[in-house]
Amino acid sequence: MINFTYTALPSRVVFGAGKLASVAEEVRAIGASRALVLCTPQQTKQAEQVAALLGDCSAGIHDGAEMHVPIESARKAREIARALGADCAVAVGGGSTIGLGKAIALDSGLPIIAVPTTYAGSEMTPVYGITENGIKTTGKDERVVPKSVIYDPELTYSLPLGMSLVSGMNAIAHAAEGLYAKDGNPVMSLIAEEGIRALAAGLPALRAGAQDAEARAQCLYGAWLCSSVLGHVGMALHHKLCHTLGGSFNLPHAETHSIVLPHSLAYNSPAAPDAMARIARAIGAKDGPKGLHALAQQLGVPMALRDLGVVESDLDRACDIALSNPYWNPRPIEAMPLRAVLQRAWEGSAPQ
Ligand code: NAD
Repeated sequence: MINFTYTALPSRVVFGAGKLASVAEEVRAIGASRALVLCTPQQTKQAEQVAALLGDCSAGIHDGAEMHVPIESARKAREIARALGADCAVAVGGGSTIGLGKAIALDSGLPIIAVPTTYAGSEMTPVYGITENGIKTTGKDERVVPKSVIYDPELTYSLPLGMSLVSGMNAIAHAAEGLYAKDGNPVMSLIAEEGIRALAAGLPALRAGAQDAEARAQCLYGAWLCSSVLGHVGMALHHKLCHTLGGSFNLPHAETHSIVLPHSLAYNSPAAPDAMARIARAIGAKDGPKGLHALAQQLGVPMALRDLGVVESDLDRACDIALSNPYWNPRPIEAMPLRAVLQRAWEGSAPQ
């Protein structure tokens, strides 16, 4: 039976190679005229390019974005935005930089324009995360949703191939879990399936040629769709596990998602056959989890948590943490099978 409630988030998306050139137009379109450009120290070149395109609309560049948005960095960025008289921020980068923009928006209401340069997908969601005293707190607030998002595949050419591939698998994870979300709906399922299809086609093409314009466009298009799913419906076991592992053992975000995904989906497979069938169809495989495992192998990305430095004796603790905080999942979370999921993800063996 079809039965759902769907509230669409407001979003404006400008997509295409070379579309960064419209950044000043986007600033004016949201009713602003003075933009602070945010980036990490690694992406100052791209930020300078944006500031040059903004011309008179540029208030300056702040290259203080860091992973996990430490509260001190958010406070500093807010202060700089105020001091420079910025009436909006343009966040050029991945989830960390867009996260900094969100932290500013949350506190000051400053509108953000996001220019994503990875496939992580923060730009279409109302979710923010801020780290204080080593603890990352996440929350949801529509004020942090970017007013406009410019997806320009040309900005992703400089994302190293290995990072691009795991970032793409990270994006697939959002759509895959969206397909069995408690609050899912038919529109999101269509978007999720198309997002997975685009990435499953684009990522192998990217591996064959990291500067392939069509592959870069496909992957960013897929990332947009997957990000939209992440913004509209709730996530389950897979995201919970990655959050637990990432936070407790300080693991890299995208690699962790990429490694765990086939195993967490295999766990949920008996309880979500329709979602698995859609994943399988999107990637052109017989089985969703096994197909994604094969895709990861084909891409040559890390396959085992032990390759990220996790030691086997940590798995019991990871399992306990994941169990300690009850959350919705299509299949009830049970200790023994969950521990087996972690074991297989640690070893990099085939999903079961
Ligand atoms: P990131 O933003 O931390 O970027 C990793 C590194 O790659 C940085 O040094 C960055 O400057 C560099 N980089 C990014 N794009 C580049 C490019 N095109 N060329 C060269 N270098 C580039 O990594 P990420 O994976 O995009 O984001 C991960 C973070 O985002 C995590 O903290 C995660 O929790 C958060 N996130 C939040 C949401 C949300 O909805 N709030 C969604 C997804 C991810």
